[in-house]
Amino acid sequence: MKTDVLIIGAGGAGLCAALAAKDAGVDVTVITKEYPTRSQTCMAQGGMNAALANVSEDSIEAHIANTLKSAHGEANEDAVRYMCSEAPNAVEWLDSIGVCFSRTKDGKIAQRTLGGASAPRACYAQDYTGLKILHTLYERCLKKEIEILNERFLLDLLKKEDGSVCGALIYNLRSGEIEHYFAKSVILATGGYSRIYDKNSTNSTASSGDGIATAFRAGVKLLGMEFVQFHPTGLKNSSILISESARGEGGYLVNSKGERFTNELAPRDEVSRAINAEMLKGESIFLDIRHLGEEFIDQNLPQERKLALLYENIDPVTDLIPIKAVAHYTMGGIEVDNKSQTSVSGLFACGECANHKVHGANRLGGNSLLEIVVFGREAGKSAVNFAFCDGKCKESFNCKKEENFLEKIKSYKNEIDFYSKRSFVGDMFYEKVGIVRKEKELLEAKEEIKKLKLELPLMGVSDNSKIYNTNLVEFLEFRNMLDVCEAVVDGALKRKVSCGAHYVEAE
Ligand code: FAD
Repeated sequence: MKTDVLIIGAGGAGLCAALAAKDAGVDVTVITKEYPTRSQTCMAQGGMNAALANVSEDSIEAHIANTLKSAHGEANEDAVRYMCSEAPNAVEWLDSIGVCFSRTKDGKIAQRTLGGASAPRACYAQDYTGLKILHTLYERCLKKEIEILNERFLLDLLKKEDGSVCGALIYNLRSGEIEHYFAKSVILATGGYSRIYDKNSTNSTASSGDGIATAFRAGVKLLGMEFVQFHPTGLKNSSILISESARGEGGYLVNSKGERFTNELAPRDEVSRAINAEMLKGESIFLDIRHLGEEFIDQNLPQERKLALLYENIDPVTDLIPIKAVAHYTMGGIEVDNKSQTSVSGLFACGECANHKVHGANRLGGNSLLEIVVFGREAGKSAVNFAFCDGKCKESFNCKKEENFLEKIKSYKNEIDFYSKRSFVGDMFYEKVGIVRKEKELLEAKEEIKKLKLELPLMGVSDNSKIYNTNLVEFLEFRNMLDVCEAVVDGALKRKVSCGAHYVEAE
């Protein structure tokens, strides 16, 4: 199959890139391993940052300063400046295509305060912000007749003899066949890797770092993989997120004695460490929003109430919400420049799988939705420019290795159950490569991952059906997770000094 711009991933970043590329007049094909509307972007609740000053004083300079402070010196100031300056335009664009942002009494877009922000800056649609954005983008893509192909899994990147990327090798879940897609330029928008922490994560099961692992195997540079953000308020038993907007709207964090122990609106790394320290003292931790009242909660935090009722069996109107800090967002990823160009010609990346150097060592709440819109659209434009200037659709068949790998998996023995290993890795990473890190534990984690990679041929799949083989897809994801885990632990071992979300404790 041939197209001008091939986009892998149909979350907010991929769909923004697709719309920008289509508007520039080229053929666009989007591929996703699930359905676009199920992409993790739909889970974003709290909001998207833009210094609109609709509720109280704010400025783009303040947004830049807050973002740089939270990034702990690991962000690129020009990239941050660009993202924050473009934020009002990005919100205006979303508003113009139909995203139903909540409004103030005088009809302006409503804004709330999230952690680390000096003003109410997050624009929101109740606590369904990501869902409303994603669905609107998808609707827009359908209207523009952008080709979106579902249930297709990225296996490998196709390369020309000169090393530049010219397409992708895809496993079609519906047919069980392998397909070659050739393109003048390719954009990876495959999301983050928080699911390496398995159940200790707020993320969708699809966040297995596939694009990052695939790019890495193809020789693309990664950056900042050790920076994993732990969110202070995952539900204790399920890790499902209770949005920062609950604290933004005035919620408290309390321990078993009912005492507040931290500034609830400090950056996430600080709050997560404060929770961790309390828990190590034997305390249970709770989010308390009872004082906000039922009417306010139903109006502003309806999803949070539903989630707490459904998954924790408690009603936040009358009860404390038991929480713990869990893996939530991955700042590391594929290194890109401010044009979303990766280290390999013809390949672009945007969204959570990319590192645009805007979050550094710790992302501010509300800056990811902003990033996927601003840099998603930029990536679309850059890929079009490349397609016009340099890109030639070249048919190439240099991917026998991955095709053979797929065949080989079916012959693997399945002596070791990889699902139990996936849980093992998640728990081990939460403990040893988590909120607080020690060199000895990082080395132990590295050794375990090395062992598991050697054991892969003893794992394999138990289901050999040709179509809808989810067992095979989950195995491929697990293999990707192991590659990502290795990059995370290697990055963590190299960084000897604490920096933002990477917190090192002496032995
Ligand atoms: P995703 O939305 O994850 O999309 C990735 C796409 O890639 C999907 O379509 C997937 O199917 C596809 N894909 C992946 N692997 C493959 C493969 N192998 N083959 C083919 N396709 C593949 N950020 C904020 O700014 N504000 C918030 O309030 C906020 N709240 C959040 C709440 C929760 C619970 C979570 C989990 C995150 C939240 N975030 C928030 C973060 C933000 O939602 C994400 O960082 C952002 O949506 C990521 O968008 P994306 O397009 O990069 O990736």
